[in-house]
Amino acid sequence: MTAFRLPADDRRCAYCLTTQANTGQPMTVDHIIPQSQGGVTAFDNLCFACRRCNEFKGSRTAACDPLTDADVPLFNPRTQAWSDHFAWDASATRLAGLSAIGRATILALNMNDAVIVDARRRWVSVGWHPPSQA
Ligand SMILES: [Zn+2]
Repeated sequence: MTAFRLPADDRRCAYCLTTQANTGQPMTVDHIIPQSQGGVTAFDNLCFACRRCNEFKGSRTAACDPLTDADVPLFNPRTQAWSDHFAWDASATRLAGLSAIGRATILALNMNDAVIVDARRRWVSVGWHPPSQA
C-alpha cells in the first residue's frame, strides 16, 4: 500500500456518487487509467470509487454507447463534470446518461442494476440519497 493521500472527495464514489456511509464499506481508490495501461499513481489519475463501480470498471477505459453503438471513453472524474454526463431520474434511484460518455459508463459499470436501484430506493426513503451534486 502506498502512503499517497487523496484530498477529500466526501468519501463517495466519483462515478455513482454512492457514499461510504451508505455502503458501510470503505471507498476503493480507482486508477482512472489502469496501471496495466500505463496509468500512474497520481492525483489526476486517481479517484474514490465504490466497490461495485470499481469491480465492474475493471481495466476498462472505454465502452459502447447504447444509443450510437460508438465506443467512447468512460467518464473521467478528474477532467469531466459529473453533471454534464449524468442525472438522477425522478425517483433518484436510477441514473440517466446525458451524453454518450454517461450512457456508456452507466452500462459498463452496471450503475442501474436491480440490486443498487433497490438499495437507492431504501436510502431515498430515509433521506440518505441522492447526495448533493458532484
Ligand atoms: Zn460507484
